[in-house]
Amino acid sequence: MGTKYRVSVCEPPVVCHDGPKITRTGARTEGLARYFTGEPCKYGHIDERYTSSTMCLRCERERHRSEAYHKWAANYQRSYLPEPSRRHNSKWQRVQEAA
Ligand SMILES: [Zn+2]
Repeated sequence: MGTKYRVSVCEPPVVCHDGPKITRTGARTEGLARYFTGEPCKYGHIDERYTSSTMCLRCERERHRSEAYHKWAANYQRSYLPEPSRRHNSKWQRVQEAA
């Protein structure tokens, strides 16, 4: 992680989410998938974060938009779903196939 996907750093931090704050430990205790501390991630996103990975939702979105991720995902899909008809008809895939 870190260098594989390029995510631009927001300076000053951008607020992507506002709401009740809960620590990762608190979210774990309550069985929540996400938590929110109000602190920016290392890329300057003030957003909810995944309890499992600590990755913020904004980073996740940026990562999914990156070309590197699309290439990786396309190869990954091909490796275990050889039949085109069995693939999910997602937006990024249509973009891939149109390219
Ligand atoms: Zn982030």
